[in-house]
Amino acid sequence: MASPNNPHDICTWRPVSECAGCSIAGRLKCRFKLGDWLHFLGMFLTFVAPAFIGVILGGYGGYLLGWAAFWLVFFGLWEIRILCSHCPYYAERGAMLRCIANYGSLKVWEYHPEPMGVSEKVQLTIGFVILGVYPFPFMVLGGQYLWACIALWGLAMFFWTLRRDTCSRCVNFSCPLNGVSEEVVDAYLERNPVMRQAWKKAGVRRLQ
Ligand code: SF4
Ligand code: SF4
Repeated sequence: MASPNNPHDICTWRPVSECAGCSIAGRLKCRFKLGDWLHFLGMFLTFVAPAFIGVILGGYGGYLLGWAAFWLVFFGLWEIRILCSHCPYYAERGAMLRCIANYGSLKVWEYHPEPMGVSEKVQLTIGFVILGVYPFPFMVLGGQYLWACIALWGLAMFFWTLRRDTCSRCVNFSCPLNGVSEEVVDAYLERNPVMRQAWKKAGVRRLQ
């Protein structure tokens, strides 16, 4: 049943006692855990920390402001609209997002229970490419090849671990990186009529 804190009645935000007997319990990262968030941040740092060091040592530190500005726009406005606003974590009432990755972002958009559209997926890919590529030209121009290699390894590790540990159990099922099986997605949608209805309306064929 919807509650003031959970207006769309998303099971991720129902009392944990309602998870008893759920057939997919343990197969999704469907409830916020501090450890999941710290794991995400740690993996992101394996890319970001060497990239920062490499750009600064190369003498192009001022250009990190451009990267930081992109982060603000991407994580603060763009990504949370095209990706996060479709996520069950976003459905909680309140001004701040509480989730296992973008914890702390302001929820400036409405919650969108329907799946991501094609244009949003394309935009997300473009955003990820800009985010990942930005520091490398500066490291190369500054002759910081070792730091560039370490940052590249960090980036690869980040995506590899993300895909293996998070995307395979993430509740934002329409994200292009999501790896949850249709069987588990359908079981989650069964427990979340608002989402199921929106997915059906969006034309997801197996729900018709
Ligand atoms: S899918 Fe929903 S009901 Fe099942 S364990 Fe996760 S949050 Fe609880
Ligand atoms: S898509 Fe990821 S980052 Fe966005 S709200 Fe969901 S869990 Fe958080």
